[in-house]
Amino acid sequence: MVVHSVRNLSDYIAALIRTGGPLTVARYMSEALNHPKWGYYARRNPLGSSGDFITAPEISQMFGELVTAWLIDCWVKMGRPDPAIVVELGPGRGTFISDLWRVARMVPSFSRAIKLCLVETSPVLREQQRQKLELIGCSGEVTWVESFEEVPEMPMLLIANEFFDALPVHQYVRFRGKWRERLVDIDPKSDHSFRYILNLQTTSIPSMGDDERCFLDALEVCPIGVLLASRIGERLSRFPGAALIIDYASAHPGLSFQAVRAHSSVNPLISPGDSDLSCAVDFKVLGQAAGVAGAKVYGPVPQGSFLRSLGIEQRAATLIKEANPETACAVSQSKNRLIEPEFMGQSFNSLAISSPDIRMVEGFDVK
Ligand code: SAH
Repeated sequence: MVVHSVRNLSDYIAALIRTGGPLTVARYMSEALNHPKWGYYARRNPLGSSGDFITAPEISQMFGELVTAWLIDCWVKMGRPDPAIVVELGPGRGTFISDLWRVARMVPSFSRAIKLCLVETSPVLREQQRQKLELIGCSGEVTWVESFEEVPEMPMLLIANEFFDALPVHQYVRFRGKWRERLVDIDPKSDHSFRYILNLQTTSIPSMGDDERCFLDALEVCPIGVLLASRIGERLSRFPGAALIIDYASAHPGLSFQAVRAHSSVNPLISPGDSDLSCAVDFKVLGQAAGVAGAKVYGPVPQGSFLRSLGIEQRAATLIKEANPETACAVSQSKNRLIEPEFMGQSFNSLAISSPDIRMVEGFDVK
């Protein structure tokens, strides 16, 4: 067997295919995002206006402030446990966690009680998060771990914004009445590019108790995401706490795997490691998994309704009153980006999970 020289991620993925056969979309996505040397997240900071994509905490401080107020309210409903751990899954540049600490300092009993735990695999982003927290004089205890399983067991508040969409998915397509998994193979026309094929063997699709699937011709399944939601639900069934998951949701079931580079859509199979790969999140399945594990589940509700119900309009009005005309205009624009349906307001959803003894969390009684 000849393994060609491996100089970059395309070479590495091609070598994997030559030696072991076509890859599942999940394996391809996982290598492209998380390969320790060439993976997208491993070697660069992709966020912000000069990067590939921009997220809610990067759009405006209002996002971090309102979500922190939500977390503090949950902490009060939990009976103000001390200590409690605040976990962020995939903190990116550390913008949200810095905003959280800024707000937390105004509630000393809260900031004294919490330990911060950041779940991050990228060394580049870990360093940025560390620097950002240092810059604002975050004096609390901060630890970094690689996965949720390493988060210490204690009362917990968890946030995951645009994290679940980066977890690898399997894709299935119905072909002549039978399900087959979609795979990534080397394109025979060029050694350096890839194409989709269907597995020759038929497969039964993972059952998640959803009858609507009978009518579908294509679907995505994210086992790592479902398992993670279940593990969070299980943790919250044993320890007081609440978790908030915000991400872009699938408008209809089907194939959503996509790549974004410099704020534009590109082909996910071209130049792996150079673009952000993501998939729409199936909130219904995540909610079911957390519920079955013993937690209470709220939503999903659109991000726009959630932030409105937490008071984004009032917060924007206060910021605008104190600002010069240019800043006031920027605040108003960012608020619109976060909540209006034509931007993130409808396509992004929020889902909360809590321990069963918390009576009700804010923001989910939206009609
Ligand atoms: N939550 C941030 C960043 C979202 S980008 C924000 O809203 O701005 C996705 C983040 O998840 C990055 O920090 C990335 O390094 C991290 N990440 C992606 N896959 C991961 C995994 N499997 N385990 C831990 N972190 C991961």
